Amino acid sequence: MSKEGHKYIFVLGGVMSGVGKGVVTSSVGLLLEQKGYPVNLVKVDPYLNVDAGTMNPTEHGEVFVLRSGMETDQDMGNYERFLGRDLTNEDYMTSGMVYQSVIARERTLGYGGKCVEAIPHVRDEILRRIEDASSYNGSRVSVVEIGGTIGDFQNALFIEAARVLKMKHPEDVLFVMVSYLPTPGTLGEMKTKPTQTAVRDLNSFGVQPDFIVARSKEPVDEKRKEKLAISCNVPRDHIISAPDIKSIYEAPLNFEKDKLGDRLLDALKLPEKRRASLAKWKKFALAATNAKAPEINIAIVGKYFDTGDFVLADAYLSVIEAIKFSAAKLNKRVNITWFNSKNLEGSNAKTVAELVKYQGIIVPGGFGESGIEGKLKAIKFAREHKIPYFGLCYGMQLMVIEYARNVLKLKNAHTTEIQKNSEDPVVDVMLEQKKHLADNKYGGTMRLGAYPCYLKKGTLARAAYKRELVEERHRHRYEINSKYIKQLEDAGLVFSGTSPDGILMEIAELSREEHPFMLGTQFHPEFQARPLSPHPLFTEFLRAAVSRKRKK
Ligand code: GLN
Repeated sequence: MSKEGHKYIFVLGGVMSGVGKGVVTSSVGLLLEQKGYPVNLVKVDPYLNVDAGTMNPTEHGEVFVLRSGMETDQDMGNYERFLGRDLTNEDYMTSGMVYQSVIARERTLGYGGKCVEAIPHVRDEILRRIEDASSYNGSRVSVVEIGGTIGDFQNALFIEAARVLKMKHPEDVLFVMVSYLPTPGTLGEMKTKPTQTAVRDLNSFGVQPDFIVARSKEPVDEKRKEKLAISCNVPRDHIISAPDIKSIYEAPLNFEKDKLGDRLLDALKLPEKRRASLAKWKKFALAATNAKAPEINIAIVGKYFDTGDFVLADAYLSVIEAIKFSAAKLNKRVNITWFNSKNLEGSNAKTVAELVKYQGIIVPGGFGESGIEGKLKAIKFAREHKIPYFGLCYGMQLMVIEYARNVLKLKNAHTTEIQKNSEDPVVDVMLEQKKHLADNKYGGTMRLGAYPCYLKKGTLARAAYKRELVEERHRHRYEINSKYIKQLEDAGLVFSGTSPDGILMEIAELSREEHPFMLGTQFHPEFQARPLSPHPLFTEFLRAAVSRKRKK
């Protein structure tokens, strides 16, 4: 049950996907909180996967891990970054999750012998979850983003649940439709028709949008706003122009210019509690979009890039954002070059040597065999040429393997993820994982979510965090094999971060005498980097990268 008078804003997409529902949801959340109303932001993903953890990143983009360990959609990352705080499991929902609980209830006679149907049972389970989420985090307004586009088969039950909520609480529920106004090249004129059609589609669900956020290349002019207002039955000042912008972080500032926050509060009959102060956000957005800031050239060596003819950087979204936040803090601009690690393999030494041009190299997280020999080559190159290196999860495990192979001279050092019977399994599967793998239990079974990490005195990591104990989010099955730790340490590798009991190696680094910045983390620091609180390890990595340019 939702709290009495709790407010809901549903964000739906019209015309097509990929036009920024997530950014609208995040921005609305930020604006309402600035005006004194705590929010919770809910992402509804209509697919049947129970969570995002089993999907290939080239299919669905990054898997974002919550503090709790739940593996979610990358939009949840944006929500956390805009709000500057953690979200909870209740803020995420998939069709798979909903059906799983309905079916589990049916199997235990929870429906008392009734025929269990999409309507009302599945719809009511959705409703229960949406209402349940409202009672967390002291939220006053829930902003719920329904994935997909109006008219999809998949999200119809979620729209139906939202309609019922509106019928039950007409004063407390708003619908915001994020639409797209194309300007066909041949006409040179912005067209409103697809939006009108999308509104009619939505009307056929018994839902009328209260607001239209009109995404387009250029700002929407008065004439078109008028036309949309009349044909879509939406008040003229509830049509919000949202032209393309350089950075998503400008969106809340633009929406504020169109008074979106105030108009939403008016429509929800909530008095403004305080004037929104976006000063800090504005300062950050300016720094993040400053085209004149000096450039840092960073190479990211990964493998989840190709989808057809397109490069899909989405798979590493949080890494890119974490870099941006630290760069803005240092008043720099980062130019990222993507290296497909598969292209660094074989006799392609020339491509590896190209890495010398970069001021820093990142190897992000990953799974499986393909591309890893290329990554190992890049890591060796970074170590030998003293190029700042930052390894994230797999990037840390491979950094340790490279060290074992080339410094310890354990030529066959490997991870048992790739070589089950490795002679020198420097990276090995965690004990409790063995059974999951044997039983084919892949969903939600990795070491997931936040764990504490103790930082050793006198190390790069400790100097960056300026603290002894930190908490970071994980997503992995393998870890550094304790049998090799002494040998690796004797050969100069420093394990600067460990689990508090000292058993799990969480950060590996080389001393500053050896290398300006060579550090890898078993966790994913990128998940906790936020615009107004950049991650200290990303900041230190970029600082080292800046110094490399100066030396040249
Ligand atoms: N494949 C590695 C593991 O499972 C690393 C995972 C990752 O990079 N997220 O341990």
